[in-house]
Amino acid sequence: LPELFVKALPVLQTLEQAGFEAYFVGGCVRDLLLGRHIHDVDITTNAYPEEVKKCFDRTIDTGIQHGTVTALYGGESYEITTYRTESGYQDFRRPDKVTFVQNLDEDLKRRDFTINALAMNTKGEIVDLFHGLDDLDKKVIRAVGVAEERFHEDALRMMRAVRFMSQLQFSLEGRTRQAIVDNHELLSKISIERVREEFVKMGTGPDARRAFAEFLDTGLSEECPHLAGKKDQLTVFTSLKASPSSERVLWSLIVILLNLPEKAIGGFMKDWKNSNAMTRKVKGIAAAFDKLGQSPSDVDLFEMGALNLNDAIDAAFILGQPVDSKTLLDRYQKLPIKDSDDLAIDGRWLIAQGVRPGPKMGTLLNDIKTKVINGDLVNSELAIAKYVSQQL
Ligand code: ATP
Ligand code: MG
Repeated sequence: LPELFVKALPVLQTLEQAGFEAYFVGGCVRDLLLGRHIHDVDITTNAYPEEVKKCFDRTIDTGIQHGTVTALYGGESYEITTYRTESGYQDFRRPDKVTFVQNLDEDLKRRDFTINALAMNTKGEIVDLFHGLDDLDKKVIRAVGVAEERFHEDALRMMRAVRFMSQLQFSLEGRTRQAIVDNHELLSKISIERVREEFVKMGTGPDARRAFAEFLDTGLSEECPHLAGKKDQLTVFTSLKASPSSERVLWSLIVILLNLPEKAIGGFMKDWKNSNAMTRKVKGIAAAFDKLGQSPSDVDLFEMGALNLNDAIDAAFILGQPVDSKTLLDRYQKLPIKDSDDLAIDGRWLIAQGVRPGPKMGTLLNDIKTKVINGDLVNSELAIAKYVSQQL
C-alpha cells in the first residue's frame, strides 16, 4: 500500500473505534488500483461533521455545510466527508441541497463515473456497486446510472469524462458518449472557471489528443469560448506529435491553431478567465513561435528570453514543424547578454557621462544594447564609454 494510505489508516481506525464506518473513496482508490501516483486521499464516513470533529484534536471546517471536515493528523491533512446524497440540481449545476445519509451505497450513487465510485476499507476490501472494477479493466469511463440523467444533474461531468479519458488513457463507454453528444449544449450552463480546469487537465494529460478528438466530436467544444465553429482548425490538435507539456504551452497551441493575431490573444485568454500572468506568458510564447518561422536574429532571441524560446521550440516540435532547436539554443547561450540588466551600463550611467535625458538617450541606450547583443560592442563600461564619446 502506498505510503499516503498507510499514513491515513489510523485516521480511518480512529473513526471506526468511535463506532463509525470509514472508507477511502473516489479518485484515490481508482488511482491505487491503476498503480497511478496518488496525490491525496479522500475519506468518507457515516459520522456527522460534528462527530468527526470530536474524533480528532485538530480539524478545520473546510466545507462543513457539504459535510467536509479536514482532520490534521500525523503532519498531514485529510478531507473527511459525511455520506451524503445530493438533490435539487437547478440549472444543470451543482446541487442546492445535500442530505447526510447513513448508507455508503447512497453516497456512491451520487458520484460521476463507475471508476470514481469505488470505496475501500481498512482491510483493503473494495466496495464496488457499479462494476467499476470491470470498467477499470476495460479502461472505460462509464456514468453511474443513467448517463443522460447524470449530465442533467451536473453538466460539468461531461467535461470530466473527456478529462479522465486523457489522464487515464481510457475510452468513453458508448452510452455515456451518446449522452454527451445529446446533451453537450448543457455545458454552457457551467461557469468558465470550472470548464477551464477540466479543459486544462484534458489538454495536458497523456492522451490529450484522443480526448480532444472526443471533445470536438461530441460537440462539447461548441459550448466553449471562441471554440465554436472552429472544429476544422482545432482538429490539428488530434494529430499533434505529443501532448502539450504544460498549461502555458497548451494555451499557446490553441491560440496558434486558431491563428489569433497578437491583439486578439488578450480577449481570448480573458474570456477563458485566465490570469493576466498566464496571458502574458502565452503572448510571449506565441510571438516567439512566429519569430521561429522567420529566421530570428540575435536581438529577436534576446527579446524572447530563454523561457519563451524553449516553449516556442516545444510548441513547434509538438506541431511537427521543423526547427533547428540545437542551433537556436546554442546561439542563445552565446548571447553576450541575456537580459537588459546584464548590460554593463544603464540610463543613469549615461546621464553621468553627460548625455541629456530624453528620447534620444533612449535611442542611444537601445543602440548600445543592440550592438552588444550583436557582438559589435564589448559589454564593458570602458568600451561603451568610448563608443558614447564618439556619438556626442
Ligand atoms: P483527481 O485525481 O483529479 O483529484 P478525482 O477523481 O479525485 O481525480 P475530484 O474532482 O478530486 O476527482 O473528486 C473526488 C471524487 O468526488 C471523484 O472521484 C468522484 O467520486 C466525486 N466527484 C467529483 N466531482 C463530481 C461531480 N461533478 N459529480 C459527481 N461526483 C463527483
Ligand atoms: Mg481528487
